[in-house]
Amino acid sequence: MNPAAASTTMVNALSVDVEDYFQVSAFAPHIRRGEWETMECRVEQNVERILALLQDADAKATFFALGWIAERYPGLIRRIADGGHEIASHGFAHGRATEQSRAEFLADIRLAKAILEDIAGCEVRGYRAPSFSIGKSNTWAFDAIAEAGYRYSSSVYPIRHDHYGVPDAPRFAHPVRPELLEIPVATVRMFNANWPAGGGGYFRLAPYALSRWSIRQINVRDRQPAMFYFHPWELDPHQPRVASVGAKTRFRHYVNLGRMAPRLARLVRDFRWDRADRVFLGAARC
Ligand SMILES: [Zn+2]
Repeated sequence: MNPAAASTTMVNALSVDVEDYFQVSAFAPHIRRGEWETMECRVEQNVERILALLQDADAKATFFALGWIAERYPGLIRRIADGGHEIASHGFAHGRATEQSRAEFLADIRLAKAILEDIAGCEVRGYRAPSFSIGKSNTWAFDAIAEAGYRYSSSVYPIRHDHYGVPDAPRFAHPVRPELLEIPVATVRMFNANWPAGGGGYFRLAPYALSRWSIRQINVRDRQPAMFYFHPWELDPHQPRVASVGAKTRFRHYVNLGRMAPRLARLVRDFRWDRADRVFLGAARC
């Protein structure tokens, strides 16, 4: 296969972390868990926009949903599943793995799996830790994820970052336990380091052409599928502003939100996308 053909035939994995704007980890010091009930929820309308965007491009994706969201919007979870997308788990309450005991973490990811399976009516096989919070200091989390019955995790971003990331972690899908695959978020190898290529603020901040070039590098040079992720709130420039956050967090959260929808529309058309279980586990059961 020539390189140009490889870039168009490789199927990549597209994923959405289904949480609302007030649940992101960077806001946790400013919005207590108990305040979530009082916040204006915008996740439902934002996910509907994503479903329409995917339908226009005839693309399927994996939705890592919070149990907290699923309990309040079971119809939304069912609509995602009815669209042929994969329902996966982002835990119940968006706690970082690094801030929980093993028992607390296991209880959280078991609860989310049970809620999501009950609503969607099919096995939930994928889990993503909030803020990619699995690293060298808490590899016990992989034991817990396997024990809870998940088949894959997508919880490591192999980059250098102040809040998360394991810069020397493997860049591509690999078994971390006998029955558990870790699927890291996509990176591109440049200047002897890993650079983010799988979403986050970088996708909104840097020119789109850089993201496109990076994913092509992964598909053509590395001959690997890319794992890309984004959030529903990233498509919502009109979300309520959280006033008390610092300048860096404010910039990262709000930069270029208005450009996200057209940029995503290009991304889903420039590459082939499917749900992670089909790309990495070989088959989707429902
Ligand atoms: Zn999250």
